[in-house]
Amino acid sequence: MGERSIYRGHSGSWLAEARDAIVSIFFPSGCRICEELLTRASRVPICDKCLASFVPLTEKVCEICGRPMLPVTASVTPADGAKQLCPICREQPGQEKRIYAFDRARSYAVYDGALVRAILLLKFERMEPLGVWFAERLAEVVKTEGLSADVVVPVPLHRDRERERGYNQADLVAKPLARRLKLPHRAVLLVRTRPRPDKQVLSLEERWESVRGAFATRPGSQVDNLRVLLVDDVMTTGATLDACSRALLEAGAKSVIGLTVARAVRNPIAGPS
Ligand SMILES: [Zn+2]
Ligand SMILES: [Zn+2]
Repeated sequence: MGERSIYRGHSGSWLAEARDAIVSIFFPSGCRICEELLTRASRVPICDKCLASFVPLTEKVCEICGRPMLPVTASVTPADGAKQLCPICREQPGQEKRIYAFDRARSYAVYDGALVRAILLLKFERMEPLGVWFAERLAEVVKTEGLSADVVVPVPLHRDRERERGYNQADLVAKPLARRLKLPHRAVLLVRTRPRPDKQVLSLEERWESVRGAFATRPGSQVDNLRVLLVDDVMTTGATLDACSRALLEAGAKSVIGLTVARAVRNPIAGPS
C-alpha cells in the first residue's frame, strides 16, 4: 500500500489503508466524473464530492415554471408567502392565456458543472443506478413541494431514436420514481410523432418550433381525468414539457406537473413567442 493511500480516514492508520485497499479491489475504477478513486461502496460510480457539488433548487422559484427567482447562491431567505412568478409566467396571468400548459414544473438541481457530466452518463451510458439515485432526489422534491399525481409518464423519445439508443434516458428516472411514489408507471402513454431535428444546437425559437405538435397520446390509451407527473432529464426552455402537456390535456388529462432532474438556469428567458 505504501504511499498510495488517497483517503486516510481519521487517523491514516493501517486500518484505513487496509480498507482503502479493499475498496479499490472492489471498485477498481475511479469516479466517472472527476476520476478520484472511489472510497465507499455504492452502485453509483460517482464520488461523494461530485454528488455533493450538485446545486439543488431549494431557493425561491417561480410557482409555475420552477425557474429560480434569484441568482442561485448559497443562502437566500424565502419570501413571506407572496406568489412568486417569473417574467414569463407573469406576462399573461389569465388561466386561458398562460404560456405553459403544465400546472407546474420543478427540478432537482441546476444544470451545471458535474451534473452536466452526470446527465451525459445517464443519457449515453445507460447508467441505471444513477437513474435510481436521481429518482430518489425527485421523490424528495415531490414530497417537499406537496405534488400529487395519479401516474408517472416519461417524456418519450421518437421511436427511431429509442431504437438506436436502446432505451429512453427519461425513463431510467421515471420508472424508479414511480416505484418509489407507488404510482403506476405509464411509459407508453405518450409518443413522439416527429423526431428532433438533426441539428446539434437549437436556438430558443427552434426549440419551441421543433416540439410544437411533436407529441401525441397513443391511440386507445386511457388518459381521461388523470393527473400526470411528466418526467424528463433536463428542462431548458420548458418547450418539451409544454408540448407533451398539451398532448396530454387534449386527450383529457386533468393536469400535468413537469419534473426534471436538471434545470438550465443560465439560458436567457424566452417564451414561445
Ligand atoms: Zn468525483
Ligand atoms: Zn415561471
